[in-house]
Amino acid sequence: MSARRWAAVAPALCVVSVALVSGCSGGGAADPATAPESPSAVTPDRGTAQLASDQAANPSGAGSVASQGAPLRIQKWLIPYGAKRKRDMAGYSKRHYGRFRWQLRNPKLIVEHFAVAGSVSAIHNTFALNRRDVEFHELPGVCTHFAVSAKGQAYKFVPTSIRCRHVVGLNQVSIGIEHVGFSDAEILGRKRQLRGSLRLTQELRCRFGLPVKNVIGHNESLRSPFYKELDPDFRGRTHGDFRRASMRVYRAKLADLGPC
Ligand SMILES: [Zn+2]
Repeated sequence: MSARRWAAVAPALCVVSVALVSGCSGGGAADPATAPESPSAVTPDRGTAQLASDQAANPSGAGSVASQGAPLRIQKWLIPYGAKRKRDMAGYSKRHYGRFRWQLRNPKLIVEHFAVAGSVSAIHNTFALNRRDVEFHELPGVCTHFAVSAKGQAYKFVPTSIRCRHVVGLNQVSIGIEHVGFSDAEILGRKRQLRGSLRLTQELRCRFGLPVKNVIGHNESLRSPFYKELDPDFRGRTHGDFRRASMRVYRAKLADLGPC
């Protein structure tokens, strides 16, 4: 099944699939073997940019991960995020956090997800659609700011100055990173993907001055001191991706990269 077809039948990645304690199984029908990475979907004009140059105004990010081996490179593959989607995001923020705002200012957290999807293109195609999610039937459509492929390539979908809807209770303060894959263990076990994920996360946390503890898994959302949810129907809802045990491993490896 092509990535586009898959996205059409299983639009809910782990950012919205099933409110659960048993894992992100909402889109599990996808077969990674039939939904391969699709480099051709990344047109040349989207370009490749070093993260350091992506936000050159941030001196704190310079010299951290980028200094360890080859520079971290982020493939820009922005999803449409026009005026309508911004209004939808601001409306969501008003309902759930109390203020009509789509901008993300001074993010406090980085939230790790896995997609229950076998390719970055499947994730991108789903996020590009600004349509109601299957879990809560709300707008805006879900998204994350970044994604990491199985081979460790990082992609940028949304500028970090804009809110993405990826985790109940924390969209107003967090950057979201999606991963190709179907389980925490699968991603932690893929060296290249894990390395790419850690480097991206380290660069972001250093850019925004976040301690390692402020890098959390989606499944840890309810424990966060930044959690805020005004809608009782949403309160207490989370997903199963990147549980605490997996994030302990992830944070330890992140800390091994050293200080910013
Ligand atoms: Zn998630």
